[in-house]
Amino acid sequence: MEWGLFVLAVLLVAALQFAVWRRLQSEDAGTPESGLAESASPADVASSQSNASVLLCPACGAENDADYRFCRECVAQLQP
Ligand SMILES: [Zn+2]
Repeated sequence: MEWGLFVLAVLLVAALQFAVWRRLQSEDAGTPESGLAESASPADVASSQSNASVLLCPACGAENDADYRFCRECVAQLQP
């Protein structure tokens, strides 16, 4: 009785892990497409990160993303 439940639970966990593993495998197979899309415009990403979307902290001068409300270095409030 108890062994039956134990074996059932082990099989259930194994099936879940197998399902997760298969999902990971399929995601790996799908990455080349998105990888190509990302590598197609590295300059655009770099340029947008260098100036447009960077906010300098008024307190410590650290570079923060433009949508950050607080500095990631010193947690000072950034200019809106
Ligand atoms: Zn700062």
